Amino acid sequence: MILDTAKYAGPCDCGRVHELRTKLVVCEYGAMDKFDDYMAECGLSGFRTVIYDTNTYALPALRHISAGQEIVLKAEGLHSEKGMIEDMMKQLERTPDYIVVVGSGTLMDFGRYSAFKLGTPFVAVPTLVSADGFTANICSIIIDGQKQSIPMQAPDAVICDLNVVSGAPRFLTIAGVQDILAKHISIADWKIAHLVSGEYFCERVCNMAQESLDLMTRCALELAEGKEPDFEAMAYAQMLSGLTMQMLSHSRAASGAEHLIAHLVEMKPRGFENAHGIHGECVGVGTIICAREYHELAKRESVETLPFKPLDEDWVREIFGPLADGVLAENRNDVLSTFDPAEIERRWPEIREIISKIPDADELTDLFVAIGAKHSLEELGIDASLGREVLAISAAIRNRLTLCRMERLISGCGI
Ligand SMILES: [Zn+2]
Ligand SMILES: [Zn+2]
Repeated sequence: MILDTAKYAGPCDCGRVHELRTKLVVCEYGAMDKFDDYMAECGLSGFRTVIYDTNTYALPALRHISAGQEIVLKAEGLHSEKGMIEDMMKQLERTPDYIVVVGSGTLMDFGRYSAFKLGTPFVAVPTLVSADGFTANICSIIIDGQKQSIPMQAPDAVICDLNVVSGAPRFLTIAGVQDILAKHISIADWKIAHLVSGEYFCERVCNMAQESLDLMTRCALELAEGKEPDFEAMAYAQMLSGLTMQMLSHSRAASGAEHLIAHLVEMKPRGFENAHGIHGECVGVGTIICAREYHELAKRESVETLPFKPLDEDWVREIFGPLADGVLAENRNDVLSTFDPAEIERRWPEIREIISKIPDADELTDLFVAIGAKHSLEELGIDASLGREVLAISAAIRNRLTLCRMERLISGCGI
């Protein structure tokens, strides 16, 4: 399957012109056999440097391509950190005409960052599809000890060989399913935020996210029935989702309240000291928790709103300890203070309508159990006694308007 990116780029009814650097996305069995043809199609030629890690270099199903230079990074301890990427760049014998990165999401950041710094194109060759960042331009990188999500460079092409991807451990594939099913919440959050605050919204991008969600839902239901995984459709859904990030230079369509659980697992505030889990697993659990909360809220026929109050500093300090200053800084220009809370009351019938499209928490739990996916806080090593406070804590770490965050403006929410 070849994804036609040209149809998504260009002027849009939302008033913006969407840029897509990625010209070609291939999800095929044996795609690496035709790698040079695909490069010619994208106009890429000359000296190429191919970057692997020790794991991806040794993958039995991987067909290696010729390279002007190969760099094989030690997989152990590899993470997306500025110093580590700059060390890798020192190994470059010359500035390549283009860079090819063969690996997982972490290694792609080495491509996004170095290509951006060198001003050269890069090509992504995913070896697994456990998350949706391959076609994105967002670099999730540690700079001076702080994790930051910064737009850098998207790949010019993504060549996803399903012979390789289908050999990845099953739990990684399942985490990839969960990363896309999270859109049940992220799409709802975006639509609700647009309704109440007038936040920018793009129908075209939202439809791409919805298409990705619908496709992955079909794949998940088939897996639950015991059918063989449809790797082609799953990879396509991931690629489509990543393109939404590139079109917005932002993860709005792909990441809402449910994604913040994954950030907490990395940050480890109070109650999360023993938290663990890969990205998709965390956001999968987040999706269930948010679905339960949102449906509970939607039982109310109407709501009363409260005036905006900043987050309580003592609470932030108690929960986040040494991380509190960063959380307080993130909340300094709180998005909740940017619109009239009464909009939530006025728009409540439409908000309930949006929530009604989200599957209920039990349905999602049954699906996750059936496909062997993580579905509870306990499985992530998170203190279950925190209960709904998990949502309040997670909503505090990112100044993005989600229904979860809006609960601070709704009377009787009690978190
Ligand atoms: Zn648009
Ligand atoms: Zn994600």
